[in-house]
Amino acid sequence: MERYEHSGPPAETMAALDHPVIAQCKDIPDGPILAFLRQHQGRWATWGEGYSMPTVRDAMPHGTPDKLQIAKMRQLMKRGLVDGCPCGCRGDYEITPKGLTAYP
Ligand SMILES: [Zn+2]
Repeated sequence: MERYEHSGPPAETMAALDHPVIAQCKDIPDGPILAFLRQHQGRWATWGEGYSMPTVRDAMPHGTPDKLQIAKMRQLMKRGLVDGCPCGCRGDYEITPKGLTAYP
């Protein structure tokens, strides 16, 4: 599991927020992401703001940083559950046949 080095506000500021701090990929469950991509089959998904594209941010805990969204998707790609580009560009994520059967 890779560790995400966050560069956000100091810990005491983060602790004051009303949502848990998402600091590692293991804090983000796979199921909602795969369900989201399944719902959007036939369209590519991206991360972050999304604009006109479906964005996996909507399937992750509130406040998940952009870099961690990308890292999480990279892990799902390594496991063969998601297709797309891991480099930090738009992503163009889509679920794979393996991903479709992983969480029926
Ligand atoms: Zn790329």
